[in-house]
Amino acid sequence: MPISTFKGGIHPPYRKLSKDEKIEFAPLPDRVFLFLTQSAGAPPKRLVEQGQDVKTGQKIAEISGFISSNLHSPITGVVREIKKMTHHIYGKPDEVIVIERTGEDEWEKMEEMDWKDLESKVIIERIKEAGIVGLGGAAFPTHVKLTPPKDKKIDTLIINGAECEPYLTIDHRLMLEKAEEIVEGIRIISKVLGNPRVMIGIEDNKMDAVDEMKKHAEKYGMEVFPLKTKYPQGSEKHLIKVLTGREVPSGGLPLDVGVVVQNVGTALAVKEAVVNGKPLIERGLTITGGGVKEKKNVVARIGTQIEDLINFAGGFVGNVKRIVLGGPMMGIAIPNTTLPIVKGTSGILVLTEEEIDRGVKRNCINCGRCVEVCPMNLMPNRLYKLTYMKRYDQAYEEGLFDCIECGSCTYICPSKIDHVKFIKLGKRVYSALRRGKK
Ligand code: SF4
Ligand code: SF4
Repeated sequence: MPISTFKGGIHPPYRKLSKDEKIEFAPLPDRVFLFLTQSAGAPPKRLVEQGQDVKTGQKIAEISGFISSNLHSPITGVVREIKKMTHHIYGKPDEVIVIERTGEDEWEKMEEMDWKDLESKVIIERIKEAGIVGLGGAAFPTHVKLTPPKDKKIDTLIINGAECEPYLTIDHRLMLEKAEEIVEGIRIISKVLGNPRVMIGIEDNKMDAVDEMKKHAEKYGMEVFPLKTKYPQGSEKHLIKVLTGREVPSGGLPLDVGVVVQNVGTALAVKEAVVNGKPLIERGLTITGGGVKEKKNVVARIGTQIEDLINFAGGFVGNVKRIVLGGPMMGIAIPNTTLPIVKGTSGILVLTEEEIDRGVKRNCINCGRCVEVCPMNLMPNRLYKLTYMKRYDQAYEEGLFDCIECGSCTYICPSKIDHVKFIKLGKRVYSALRRGKK
């Protein structure tokens, strides 16, 4: 039976169109476009020059700060160009390394490791070297998350298999097809954290994944919990609340309540890095939506252009109106398909006019529905109005930065108000104003 749930949230149409599609390998791309910034934090320092030959797995950019991550070449080829482009995820100029493939993979892997007898610091160093970041979407460097400050005792590791965003199915398929490897990754993470309690949370619309994960995880003392299917069940704060009853304080982090949360895809990447010596050069993602011919779950090389992957899925069909990276609730719409996937790309949604039709925007009618569904107990109608009126200080006082940008308010609003757009803008302006005052 599902355990307790959180207050608020919504039940959008889940449209898990690709849930029965086995994971396929996308063809090796002829060219990759690698933004230096592939994670939260500082961009790494580039190590290659134009004209240089590179091998698959070779480190091409190196950590440049405490929160930063290494970058490796996803193909064997030659660095054709180094240029500046606006990053489609982070919205700021960034350097891009363009690599042209010259043949099949010639690997430059790290040594394979038997992790069971290794010290935690050696394992963390390997995870850092491999450029592993959180693959659930946030792309936070994993080695940093696994190195909590000494005064923070971690007693619980939560593994996020909720996959609560509509359309996305890659985590579901990974749990069905790679459960044993995911569990080995979880054992490695658990060892690094000093063997805390391990709780694996999966929404109850994926009971086959619950069964599969139980089969491999329970023998190691891990607990697998079916969770109520409700968006945003996969948000870190809500997973922690539902599974442990603990509340992450406003402005705080999971480690403030003794918890580390990792996604199932990240656990798999950790296993591959530590056991097989493979850096993060590819990831699983879902290609789906009414506007693409075949719905697929694929493993694709980082830096592959989106148009290559859409072509692999049979190309466009119908009246395509929008392409989104990530899920429909929190993903980012992109202007063209020549852009590449990055380490944080969990899906490519090709949406038709019918799928995105939200109707006509009107004035707020004070119905309160956005307040009812807000999982952070905020008043989205107030936050929207305050940022619209440029009253950023007041919006801050009323919890602007507690908003997790889940989009539940925007989804439910009968007046079709895009609260999240205003909230994101409000956060950016408030932060810029604060910096200006220092
Ligand atoms: S205000 Fe933020 S947290 Fe609340 S429903 Fe809207 S987007 Fe989600
Ligand atoms: S749901 Fe929309 S119309 Fe209703 S109170 Fe919120 S912003 Fe206003």
